[in-house]
Amino acid sequence: MSVSENAGEMPAASVPDIAASVPDIASVPDVALGTDGSSINENGALSDSHADLYTDDGRNATKIRCLRCSSLVLSPGNARLTSKELFLPHMQKKSANQEANDGETLTKHWLVSDMFIFDNVGFTNTVDGKLKYLICADCEVGPIGWHDTNIKKEFYISLDRVKHDR
Ligand SMILES: [Zn+2]
Repeated sequence: MSVSENAGEMPAASVPDIAASVPDIASVPDVALGTDGSSINENGALSDSHADLYTDDGRNATKIRCLRCSSLVLSPGNARLTSKELFLPHMQKKSANQEANDGETLTKHWLVSDMFIFDNVGFTNTVDGKLKYLICADCEVGPIGWHDTNIKKEFYISLDRVKHDR
């Protein structure tokens, strides 16, 4: 009866807007790995709360980092915000097994026009003859993004699969 229950309490009042928009993954990244993914996000959850993630011309205002190891994926200004329905398998380590169709459709992405623009990024082997998923270059967690090998100038990084860091 005297056991304290304060372990779960977080001082939320001072958390800035960026953190409020993606609280679950940013604070407990391991939860997003290898689970059923239900805690990652809902597509409808994206809203104006992302307004401070991009500049007036729609480019990323922050550094974009791996959720798990904080490896730098993109520097500010190197990607454009875009809406596109892309199916990505749930995030987990590259070595883990999973069903190929076990994933979710994501709609908000950073569009990068050349793979050399990335600070660090890795790619999976080709899937379905034309797709490559983008993964963290350092810890290989992913997918964090999507690339159609037939479209050379379009690389997508999903907003929900990375963290935004000023
Ligand atoms: Zn990583």
